[in-house]
Amino acid sequence: MDIQRHVDLRPYNTLGISVCADYFIEVASLDALKEAIEFSSRRRLRRVFIGGGSNLVLRGDIQGLVIHMAMRGISCESSGEERLVTAAAGENWDELVKYSLAQGWYGLENLISIPGQAGAAPIQNIGAYGVELASVLDSVTGWDVSLNGLRTLSATDCQLGYRDSIFKGALRDVFIITSITLRLSATPSPNINYPALREALPKSNNPEQKLSAELVAETVARVRAEKLPDFRREPNVGSFFKNPIISKTLAHELVAKYPALPHWPMPGGRFKVAAAWLVDQAGWKGKRRGAVGIHPRQAIVLVNYDGAAGADVLAFASAIQADVLARFNVELEIEPRVY
Ligand code: FAD
Ligand code: NAP
Repeated sequence: MDIQRHVDLRPYNTLGISVCADYFIEVASLDALKEAIEFSSRRRLRRVFIGGGSNLVLRGDIQGLVIHMAMRGISCESSGEERLVTAAAGENWDELVKYSLAQGWYGLENLISIPGQAGAAPIQNIGAYGVELASVLDSVTGWDVSLNGLRTLSATDCQLGYRDSIFKGALRDVFIITSITLRLSATPSPNINYPALREALPKSNNPEQKLSAELVAETVARVRAEKLPDFRREPNVGSFFKNPIISKTLAHELVAKYPALPHWPMPGGRFKVAAAWLVDQAGWKGKRRGAVGIHPRQAIVLVNYDGAAGADVLAFASAIQADVLARFNVELEIEPRVY
């Protein structure tokens, strides 16, 4: 077991925060994962699992064992048009999307260019451009620390919701995902319901011409590259705040006062409102405080411009949350997990 001591986690999080892990290990197999868990249990060390590090904020040094997921492998079982694709947790998500497309396994095109690993995709039920992982997830396999065994959960068991799942609730830190299985198709069926995607697609002069899944993926990748700051140059975790889901009463009040507020009905009669609009209206877009700031073009992307500490990032985020609450009576929830 190759356990390292005092490891700087800066290369392991896309927000580029430098904190020290007391113990660090990279696990590339189930056996290695089990050994790492046993090691931490024996020494009573806290465990922190890291995939691509694109959805976490490291508040301070980790007095415990950081386990970096590095299992690889992709396999596919075909049955008629169905393609059941299993990817090990450590597979890079974007590469998995591209590989699937190249194999003619369709269904992931709208989810191209999302950073991070396959194993983390169910954690917040990743979503973009009108598609969520929920629409293709078949099952999730992982090591259950409480049962000390491997088990498989169906997609229903995962309780996937809007940027949410059972892995953020009852199974948080308990169920360590080792692989995910996706139900893809050999027949492309592009989903272009998301208005911004429809608008970005190149206009065809030939109405008979069928829209290809590859074109949808290319378009999403292009728009994302144009709109989103690259975390390698401007360290960030994508959306820092979730779009709030608020009551119908509050949504009506707000829309009456601010007719331009983007809002969408959600199941259960509630409404999703655009966090980016609230942050922008409150005047935070492009604002900087020391090393931290909100990106000038993306109102919910918080950027670490110059070696900020986790505490600086969280203090800045708190100021935005307090301001949005005071102005609009809406609580903004931080999307990434804070350690
Ligand atoms: P990490 O940040 O490493 O981990 C996130 C959480 O999952 C942690 O709590 C960690 O402990 C846990 N975890 C990771 N792997 C495992 C595992 N195998 N088993 C158990 N727990 C695990 N998200 C979207 O939904 N849609 C987007 O369009 C999107 N765009 C983004 C754009 C940018 C530029 C960035 C930086 C981020 C974006 N994100 C988006 C957020 C992020 O990419 C996703 O949430 C992604 O799934 C996180 O994967 P990760 O491997 O980096 O997870
Ligand atoms: P956008 O298209 O400018 O839209 C801004 C927000 O409005 C998004 O958050 C989106 O919600 C919502 N929205 C737009 N049209 C909608 C519709 N018809 N129905 C419901 N909600 C709608 O967003 P963007 O910032 O360029 O991002 C594009 C897509 O990539 C979005 O889906 C976004 O979620 C995703 N993305 C996510 C992250 C992340 O870290 N989580 C980072 C970058 C991009 P949804 O977020 O629910 O889609």
